[in-house]
Amino acid sequence: MSDPGRAVVTGGAGFLGSHLCDRLVADGWAVLCVDSLITGRRANIAHLEGHPRFAFLQADVTRPLEVEGAVDLVLHFASPASPRDYAQLPIHTLKAGGLGTYHALGLARAKGAAFVLASSSEVYGDPQVTPQPEDYWGHVNPVGPRSVYDEAKRYAEALAAAYARTHGLRVAIARIFNTYGPRMRADDGRALPTFITQALQGLPLTVFGDGSQTRSFCYVDDLIEGVLRLARFAQNHDGTPTVVNLGNPEETTILAVAQEILALTASRSPITFHPLPADDPRVRRPDITRAEALLGWTATVSRTDGLRMTIEHFRARPAEPAAKEAL
Ligand code: UDP
Repeated sequence: MSDPGRAVVTGGAGFLGSHLCDRLVADGWAVLCVDSLITGRRANIAHLEGHPRFAFLQADVTRPLEVEGAVDLVLHFASPASPRDYAQLPIHTLKAGGLGTYHALGLARAKGAAFVLASSSEVYGDPQVTPQPEDYWGHVNPVGPRSVYDEAKRYAEALAAAYARTHGLRVAIARIFNTYGPRMRADDGRALPTFITQALQGLPLTVFGDGSQTRSFCYVDDLIEGVLRLARFAQNHDGTPTVVNLGNPEETTILAVAQEILALTASRSPITFHPLPADDPRVRRPDITRAEALLGWTATVSRTDGLRMTIEHFRARPAEPAAKEAL
């Protein structure tokens, strides 16, 4: 295997970051995983520790980031990412997207590394266009409860784009749509880990609103494949930031996915309905035409298969409590 080089993954002990570290190490990269462990978990990377090409640095990217030695690729994935987490850590979320992105970009610039930003479908807010293509500018409430995340990601994109245009930094922006899989926290408040844990524990499934709002759920392995293809693309381009939606375009209502989880877990839990959180997007579905054209990428894992694998993961960890209260 040829040596691809050294990558720094901020947020590398989180859900997506840890899967990214796994793939990079498997593909021959040397990986420095940087994480504050505020929402990430050491357990997510325990199996990598001791690997000769893996190192962990506990550090908060909202503070200046110093890394010794060569770096070829910086992947900035550090941020609280679930609506519950960013509601509980509002200022830190803004700092992770603002100062954290600034420090991660500074590292990439100092090392001459390519840069991949984990952005989010949240930049589209509660979209008035569906599916959402990359050239849709979004519909975001700048002072609503989700704004700490949405605006942080929008600012992070603007900062990364400015570094690309001003310094010729090789920049790619991944707008990541709802992704699920093993290593999500049972208590992160997101729909799928919450429903799965509730179903396995015989607790009511807490659907917000009437459950007619939609999301499009991507299995984590598909998402990571897309991120790696985008990173390779970024390494070969400069000056123009590349923005790509990554997600599974198969759209479903939240009520339907709750019912699917009940069926797949053979649970007899009831479904209960609770108030819809403020500014909860009514619809969300990625237009992935650009990812298909630029990266030859598309999601391949069906929701049934992905949910089965995720349910197996949560079955093996029955000790974790489900999220208790609604936002
Ligand atoms: N949701 C729900 N019950 C829960 C958690 C979430 O009905 O216990 C809904 C939430 O209101 C939203 C959708 O499921 O409409 C997806 O929420 P999630 O927090 O997973 O992520 P989001 O897509 O909102 O960032």
